[in-house]
Amino acid sequence: MSASIIDGKAIAAKRREQIATEAKAFTEKTGVKPHLAAILVGDDPASAVYVRNKQRACEQANIQSTLHRLTAETTQSQLLDLIAECNAAADVHGILVQLPLPSHIEEKAVLDAVIATKDVDAFHPENVGLIVQNRPRFLPCTPAGVQILLEESGTETAGKHAVVLGRSEIVGKPMAILLMQRGPLANATVTVCHSRTENLAEITRTADILIAAIGKPKFVTQDMVKPGATVIDVGTNRVDGKLVGDVDFEPIKEIATAITPVPGGVGPMTIAMLLRNTLTAAQLATA
Ligand code: NAP
Repeated sequence: MSASIIDGKAIAAKRREQIATEAKAFTEKTGVKPHLAAILVGDDPASAVYVRNKQRACEQANIQSTLHRLTAETTQSQLLDLIAECNAAADVHGILVQLPLPSHIEEKAVLDAVIATKDVDAFHPENVGLIVQNRPRFLPCTPAGVQILLEESGTETAGKHAVVLGRSEIVGKPMAILLMQRGPLANATVTVCHSRTENLAEITRTADILIAAIGKPKFVTQDMVKPGATVIDVGTNRVDGKLVGDVDFEPIKEIATAITPVPGGVGPMTIAMLLRNTLTAAQLATA
């Protein structure tokens, strides 16, 4: 049996079309165009590509985007000044600070400075609190995108054992929270594993849904996967210039029921959810 490949690119394209239609209708009704301000500090080529992709996706979704490109020498205080400007700008609905930031800038201070109502990445403590309490303002982009992939692949989550590899603030932790909530695409029994987990493979082998977000190429091998599981690969690692996931795709696709590829799996969904949050921010600002 070979797994069905979850086509994140196609699923994200469908969602983006829906968002484009909604954004157009919103602008026709209110005269307001949703607007995302993206901030890129330094000249990391991968970050530049990510930001460009997000901007292109905005255009296609009838969302305005503005790129603020700052040099690697920008001070934390200069960056905070720009964020304060974007916070105050009535025509800006969402603010995205592309990570990673140069090492002389404290990431938490910068992310906390984005006003919660424009925090379309859902990193602000207020937004994280709302997510934990199951009354989200914005959805965490990558985890919410994974939930949609599970839905579209016909993977039942209720009552199933979901194992999340990784406990980062951006992926692992919010992923686990979404899946354990009471509600649709959730109600799972969730185990979170990290670098201090003992007997990792024993745990992953009990997963009906295995979500890998650790940032280590092909870390998850076939012997770590229960036959019939759904496997979601969040990892994006550059190996010899090629994008490789955290999952050893070829052998695992022979035993899984459904699996995401890298690229073309989770990545496109993350962008679609960012667009969704930007539209939500504009709707909340004009409500
Ligand atoms: P991160 O902040 O580096 O966190 C990695 C997590 O993996 C940590 O919790 C770490 O445990 C755990 N880990 C590391 N080595 C491990 C091991 N040997 N065994 C078990 N757990 C281990 O990374 P992240 O931001 O969550 O990103 C993870 C991956 O997803 C990266 O490849 C990133 O590029 C990718 N990503 C993709 C998207 C997308 O849209 N496709 C979005 C975000 C991230 P400790 O906490 O104990 O250190």
